[in-house]
Amino acid sequence: MTYTIEKVTTLIGARRYGDKDTNIGFILTDSRSLCFPEETLFFALKSERNDGHNYIPELYRRGVRNFVVTNVPKGYASDYPEANFLKVVNTLEALQRLAERHRDEFNIPIVGITGSNGKTMVKEWLHQLLSPNMFVTRSPRSYNSQIGVPLSVWLMNEQTEVGVFEAGISQPGEMLALRDIIQPTIAVLTYLGSAHQENFESLEAKCREKIILFHDAETIVYNGDDEIVARVVGEYHDYKGEKLYWSLKDSAAPFYVKNIEKKGNLSIITYIYKGEEDSYSLPFIDEASVTNSIIAAVVSRKLGLTAEEVDKRMSLLEPVAMRLEVKEGQHGCTLINDSYNSDINSLDIALDFMSRRPDHKGRRHTLILSDIFQSGENPKDLYKEVSDLCRKRGVVKFIGVGPQLYEQSDEIQISEKFFFRNIEDFIKSEVFASLRDEVILLKGARQFGFDQLTELLVKKVHETTLEVNLNAVVANLNYYRSFMKPETKLVCMIKADGYGAGAVEIAKTLQDHRVDYLAVAVADEGVTLRKNGITSNIMIMNPEMTAFKTMFDYDLEPEVYSFRILDALIKAAEKEGVTGFPVHIKLDTGMHRLGFDPENDMEELIARLKHQNAIIPRSVFSHFVGSDDDSFDAFSAQQFALFDKGSKQLQAAFDHKILRHICNSAGIEHFPDRQLDMCRLGLGLYGINSRNNKTINCVSTLKTTILQMHHIKAGESIGYSRRTILDKDSVIAAIPIGYADGLNRHLGNRHAYCLVNGQKAEYVGNICMDVAMIDVTGIDCKEGDSVEIFGEQLPVQTLSEILDTIPYEVLTTISNRVKRVYYQD
Ligand SMILES: *Cc1c(COP(=O)(O)O)cnc(C)c1O
Repeated sequence: MTYTIEKVTTLIGARRYGDKDTNIGFILTDSRSLCFPEETLFFALKSERNDGHNYIPELYRRGVRNFVVTNVPKGYASDYPEANFLKVVNTLEALQRLAERHRDEFNIPIVGITGSNGKTMVKEWLHQLLSPNMFVTRSPRSYNSQIGVPLSVWLMNEQTEVGVFEAGISQPGEMLALRDIIQPTIAVLTYLGSAHQENFESLEAKCREKIILFHDAETIVYNGDDEIVARVVGEYHDYKGEKLYWSLKDSAAPFYVKNIEKKGNLSIITYIYKGEEDSYSLPFIDEASVTNSIIAAVVSRKLGLTAEEVDKRMSLLEPVAMRLEVKEGQHGCTLINDSYNSDINSLDIALDFMSRRPDHKGRRHTLILSDIFQSGENPKDLYKEVSDLCRKRGVVKFIGVGPQLYEQSDEIQISEKFFFRNIEDFIKSEVFASLRDEVILLKGARQFGFDQLTELLVKKVHETTLEVNLNAVVANLNYYRSFMKPETKLVCMIKADGYGAGAVEIAKTLQDHRVDYLAVAVADEGVTLRKNGITSNIMIMNPEMTAFKTMFDYDLEPEVYSFRILDALIKAAEKEGVTGFPVHIKLDTGMHRLGFDPENDMEELIARLKHQNAIIPRSVFSHFVGSDDDSFDAFSAQQFALFDKGSKQLQAAFDHKILRHICNSAGIEHFPDRQLDMCRLGLGLYGINSRNNKTINCVSTLKTTILQMHHIKAGESIGYSRRTILDKDSVIAAIPIGYADGLNRHLGNRHAYCLVNGQKAEYVGNICMDVAMIDVTGIDCKEGDSVEIFGEQLPVQTLSEILDTIPYEVLTTISNRVKRVYYQD
């Protein structure tokens, strides 16, 4: 479905500059995701830190011709002769307006889903339940924000028979805009919980905001057993539509859930709808899945599915994999595993992810794709579209698995391409055996056996892994940025291998989010980043005298903290013929670790810097000793005063701007008026708030699995030196993690615990080099079950407190043999 630029101009009420006629099929808000320039309309959105207008020249060069802006570039007619600029007052509102007008074109059922949890799962399951009967357009992944919702709604086209969209809010006032865009005929509130509660005065206030989505919907779906929800809905006296709530208690409810029975791995749900009793079985037993399935059942029955259809399809539901994982593969390959439902929109997001991640070795990009289920669309057109996407996103090798792709192989216009009817044929083939040094995106539906494929392709690792959530890194970055002025620059500290999380992948993510500097401890860490395609500015905090040449060669900017290193650096630079190499001057204001003395050294330092042109001070900085603790506030003030004086003295001696910085993570939060030109974010990026010892967004989770279980009698001892004697008959499990992995020996002998299926299991006996034993008496578990050492459920701070240390130490001592697995929601 396309719109002429003229039509778009009218729909969003813009003033048009430029007169080229074009058709618009794609909307772009993030310049990095450009795919089809000719038919793209770019919305130059402004955020506190970024301004889409800055990307117009680059996008024009790359072929984009249509822009929605608040400011038309000066001299547009000569600089951008082929372009149309649509001038509006607010580009975000214009985007929302366009989506709203697009929505108006459709007279079909539209399901709008809001709630604190479960939105994505309900949406995905509804898609699985409905798609055999009708063509469903839904939000890709969790595109549910003020920008995500319009982009989702825009995806509806002539074929769409039902739309399913998520609406997520984090602040009062946001739902109104989302409601106007989605205009749901069926509005769903999944669950009211405490997510984003900080911005609302009460749960009830948040509930009122959420159910703004309900206004004007023909049918509203909610939990009749939730008192707050029922009360707030009850206030709606003039609501004329259908209140289709579900209840486990009220047999008069429109959808009465009469019974929930668990049988092995199945849940059997019996319900009464429109006076008839029916049931379905679900292949999951956890509470969230059961609730989400009930909501999906209510909506699908409302949309006309029969009880038999619901039962049959519920039994086939697939888990919703939200993650896009990056794993190390066999034979020099990197695997990007995205088992999230295979549809063309999520394929595009995954391809975008692959094409954006820099790759040091310039390895080829390969896609292994299964048949896509998108009923309604003609397969020829569908795979033609897939082929276009792949070419635009730089895929050079295409492997199709499934009967439909096999049939449609002609539509895939990629020179290196292979097709197989099923996964077994592929695995037996030469093509499979010869996968080497490639970045491989695996995108396939479960029923094609892609699980098995992934297992064969990943490098076999020790069962202990550190899972790193890259979205959480970004969320933490934004959390700290929210304390900073938009113009303040940021250094992200990724020393000690990214505080244990793995510097390279963290750096890729940070570079993608345009941080100004990355900082590592030693030159070799910087070289590794460069070799992995990191082009951001890099600072070296502990430069070794032996590595100056490496720093010049790889553009790594050293910290300079003493006259000895200053002189050696100047000498080395002069010898290599280097001039104007940027360095960072450190002042010691109270830590008494490294740095020049701001009271006594400044004159001499300035004189020596002025006397040469090999190096040039780009920044000057110092470090707080106690910004995390209010009791040091007076000392921090003294440090700041010293720094302020010394750094101003340095600046006064030079004409160019020298960036001044002193705040670390805790400082950013505690002393926003001391942010100066730049801040240095460390621990906070990894989710740990050292001011209150809370977790902001958990980044790293250390996990392992149960190797073996034993029933041991009371009086027996566990482990070396018989340090734990059992006082009752117990069940003891062995897990493959020991002190050589970074599991501190002091945690043994019941000093600490890990979590097995959410329950605390104490370490018993001395922790061994590669294995530890835990007490799982009374915990429902078996061999192969997952064990959390720290992370999402068990904060790393719990362990650091027991060990009488700080989280920094626990994170950075996880050894290299523990594989890091990265994922994105
Ligand atoms: C490590 C480090 C930081 C970051 O400190 P956090 O407390 O982790 O935020 C900042 N500046 C310097 C000089 C550092 O060495």
